[in-house]
Amino acid sequence: MAKKSKGPRQIVGLKCSVCNAFGYVTEFNKNNEQLKKQTSNESTFPLSKYCKVCRKHTEHKQSKKLK
Ligand SMILES: [Zn+2]
Repeated sequence: MAKKSKGPRQIVGLKCSVCNAFGYVTEFNKNNEQLKKQTSNESTFPLSKYCKVCRKHTEHKQSKKLK
């Protein structure tokens, strides 16, 4: 069976909320995100990620949709 390639997955950029440096590109599933919000009232963003510029873990926010 072939895998389904279509889906609610979105590619987004992640930006450091402290220095505004663009650091990561990630994929997330819209459906999972909605489910998360409904069940635990939590959001995927902001994410704690290592920022090369700040040299520490900072909050990374979704900056823009890629693709
Ligand atoms: Zn930073």
